[in-house]
Amino acid sequence: MGRQNQSTRATSQGKQHFSHPHNLKIVNPADQAKTLTCNACEQPDNNNPYLHGCNSCQYYLHENCFNSPRFLNHSSHPSHPLTLHQIPTYSSRSFTCKACGSAGNGFCFSCACCEFDIHLQCASYPSSILVDKHPHQLELHFGSPYEDKSMAYVCDICNVIMNKDNWLYYCASCDFGSHLKCTISPEVGVFPKQQRPIPNPTVNTINAANEAHEQIIAAQLRAQIEARGREAALDLLRPSGRRYSYI
Ligand SMILES: [Zn+2]
Ligand SMILES: [Zn+2]
Ligand SMILES: [Zn+2]
Ligand SMILES: [Zn+2]
Ligand SMILES: [Zn+2]
Ligand SMILES: [Zn+2]
Repeated sequence: MGRQNQSTRATSQGKQHFSHPHNLKIVNPADQAKTLTCNACEQPDNNNPYLHGCNSCQYYLHENCFNSPRFLNHSSHPSHPLTLHQIPTYSSRSFTCKACGSAGNGFCFSCACCEFDIHLQCASYPSSILVDKHPHQLELHFGSPYEDKSMAYVCDICNVIMNKDNWLYYCASCDFGSHLKCTISPEVGVFPKQQRPIPNPTVNTINAANEAHEQIIAAQLRAQIEARGREAALDLLRPSGRRYSYI
């Protein structure tokens, strides 16, 4: 009888995030007049049950993007750890993603000294994958899969000539290759095991980030399972059409 939802009080203060000066509160996209876009990955709310947001600034983040680690050791750039930046450090305020070749204005993982930048969502492409577009497992390549690096090749899904500097999925036995986006839409901010930060006993800050990252992965999975309900949870446990390989 006229009871208030107790949980609203607990979350009314919101949470801090390094990317925004105000606390971010839980925002239900269904309550908004227009589709909300996540400022980190530049993707729409995609039926997410809630976003973290600041309505006065129109600033929103998906749960997974909110929880993205600040540092990441990614096998595409083994020499240095990548740092999550809210705004590209270049004067143009935009960056070109090494993975997909498109421009980005949202969050990026970057190595400033090498001018290496990748989209938040491109960082989460798994290193091997099985999809319904090809009968065999595809491997992620960070550039041309051929010994002769001058050889041109087209995407076997969209038939467009591929940029030799960008990443692709490739099956060596069939010589089948495809653009990242033609192959799969990545789960934003969900990082495959082999792309998680690698423990480095000499750097304490990185170790701290590793532990936090393990917790983030667990929290993201729990949140996804809760958000998508039981059917989606079963999908995560027993994917059928599409399987990630965690070697
Ligand atoms: Zn996002
Ligand atoms: Zn704000
Ligand atoms: Zn990209
Ligand atoms: Zn570097
Ligand atoms: Zn393609
Ligand atoms: Zn094949």
